[in-house]
This record gives sequence, structure tokens and C-alpha cells, in this order.
Amino acid sequence: MTDLTGQTVLITAAAQGIGRATALAFARAGATVHATDINEAGLAGLEGITTHRLDVLNADAVNALVGEIGRVDILFNCAGFVHAGNVLEMSDADFDFAVDLNVKSMIRTIRAVLPGMVKQGGGCIINMSSVASSIKGVPNRFAYSTTKAAVLGLTKAVAADFVASNVRCNAICPGTVQSPSLDERLAATGDYDKARSDFIARQPMGRIGTAEEIADLAVYLAGASYTTGQAVCIDGGWTI
Ligand code: NAD
Repeated sequence: MTDLTGQTVLITAAAQGIGRATALAFARAGATVHATDINEAGLAGLEGITTHRLDVLNADAVNALVGEIGRVDILFNCAGFVHAGNVLEMSDADFDFAVDLNVKSMIRTIRAVLPGMVKQGGGCIINMSSVASSIKGVPNRFAYSTTKAAVLGLTKAVAADFVASNVRCNAICPGTVQSPSLDERLAATGDYDKARSDFIARQPMGRIGTAEEIADLAVYLAGASYTTGQAVCIDGGWTI
């Protein structure tokens, strides 16, 4: 098991779903965890973890929090939002918001932590992408897939620019994962049960993934000292 004792981790969007499971997994691995989210109430109950309200759309707030924490060894950029719709259905406002939350938020946090990582001799950045990106075309996910593809580009660019500074940067690309927002998306179709069985039907393993399975991959990547610039799929066989 990866031992992250002595490592300080900053996680965005940790109030629920994958971010929350990852905060708990990093704590179990021995790290000092700073779990953040815009939903402060949702951060309650994260035992042994320091929590902060953080809106990743706000660069000043990101910079202030990183200044407050001081040293960050591992950054997990988990914040993201799924817009439904194809290119014709997408409004410019929705696309701008998707770019801001799914892509620019990661640039903000990376800019905030990278100088410290370089100065301290290394660090690890993990960005949340999706197989719905440049990896796989998925219907009804234009803004989401376009922005999650950009996450893969920024991941590789940061990895290439900072490999000599011992900063690793990788991306996680899940398939469908059980989370509160997945349930909301299924309910929004108007037929939760049918939407759920359709999602399960496209999974070769015959089930939706768990947040804990994604969290285990994040902890693995935090300790994967010879791995950088990679887009790691974890999707129950969806992209076989
Ligand atoms: P979720 O969508 O249920 O929760 C998202 C969290 O983000 C919430 O706690 C919310 O308060 C927080 N958030 C929203 N706006 C924020 C902001 N401006 N600043 C800070 N926090 C903010 O969680 P999830 O489904 O586990 O998704 C987490 C990440 O994983 C997202 O980037 C998502 O795109 C990605 N992902 C999810 C799935 C899936 O099937 N669930 C699949 C692939 C990738």
C-alpha cells in the first residue's frame, strides 16, 4: 500500500463523490489532507482532515488558501461539472462556464502550487478528466468532453514542462462512477431506472464504478514515482 506519511495533499471538490472518497483514502495512506469545496456543509464529517471552503472559480481565494497551507506535495484537481447536450444545444454561457470550472480552475490551482513544488524539489499533480474527452466520443456531452479533453492537454503540457523539476502531472479518466451528481443526471432524464440500466448496459463489467475505486487510483498515482504525463483510464472496460 502507498505510504504518504509526511505528504501534504490539497483536494478540490471534496464534499461528495470522488473528491470526498479520495480525501478519506489519502488520509488512510497517512497524508495530511486539506479537503476543499464550495459546499462547506458537505465537508462535515471528514474525520482527521482539515477542511476549507474554496471556490475554484476564484483565483484570489485559491492563492490565499495555498499561502495559508504553505507546503503542498500533492494537488488533486477534482472539481468539474457535467453539461448535457450536443454542440447545437449548448449555449455560449454554458460553454464558458464549463471551461472556467473544468479547465481554468485547474490552471488556477496549478499556478498556485507549482512555484512551491519546484522550490521544494518536487511534487505531484493529479487532474480529473474522463474517458468522455479525447479518448471516447460520448453522446450528449459536448461541453463536458471538450473541456475534459483540454484537461488531458494541460496535464501533458505541465508534465513536459516540469519533469526536470521532479513535478509529476497525471490525469484520471473514469467511466461512469456512482456519485450524487450521477444520480441527479439520471433523475434529470425523467426516467431514473431506465437511464441507470442504460448506463450499466454500456459497461462491459456490468456495473457502475465506485468513488472508492477512483480514490485508490489517485493514491496509487501519488506514489507512482516513474509515471508522468499519463491519462489513466478506469472505466470498467468501456474503452476496451
Ligand atoms: P459530484 O459531481 O457529485 O460533486 C462535485 C463537487 O464539486 C460538489 O461537492 C460541488 O460542491 C463541488 N463544486 C462545484 N463547483 C465548485 C466550485 N466552483 N469550487 C469548488 N467545488 C465545487 O462529484 P463526482 O461525480 O464524483 O465528480 C467529481 C469529478 O469527477 C468531476 O470533475 C467529474 O467531471 C469527474 N468525473 C465523474 C464521473 C462520474 O461518473 N461521476 C465520471 C468521470 C469523471
